[in-house]
Amino acid sequence: MERKDKVILSRKSKLTLDKPVSTTYLDIGTIAFMKWLTSTEDNKSADTSIIVKSILKDKFIIFYDGDLSKDVTVVFKDCIPWCKYCEADDCGHVGFAICLKQYYTRYGSDGV
Ligand SMILES: [Zn+2]
Repeated sequence: MERKDKVILSRKSKLTLDKPVSTTYLDIGTIAFMKWLTSTEDNKSADTSIIVKSILKDKFIIFYDGDLSKDVTVVFKDCIPWCKYCEADDCGHVGFAICLKQYYTRYGSDGV
């Protein structure tokens, strides 16, 4: 079952296309983040394929990417994010991690 609004975060699967992509990795990550946030606040897991597993502030974020069926780790080196799964700093995971980091910087990391 393929959903039209599916957000694919992995750079390997999507963002290596030759033609220019109109959405940036940050946009992709932001969309994924908004979905995750909505599903978290509504206390339902319906519309997101991401499960945040572990956050160590300013160090790394680990979350489960349901599209990949894998855990993805985004590390922060000197505050610069790096996706260990894609081995890139410009994939959707990084965009998601940046949003998540900003969110927890603002609201604290309780309840994760
Ligand atoms: Zn990635």
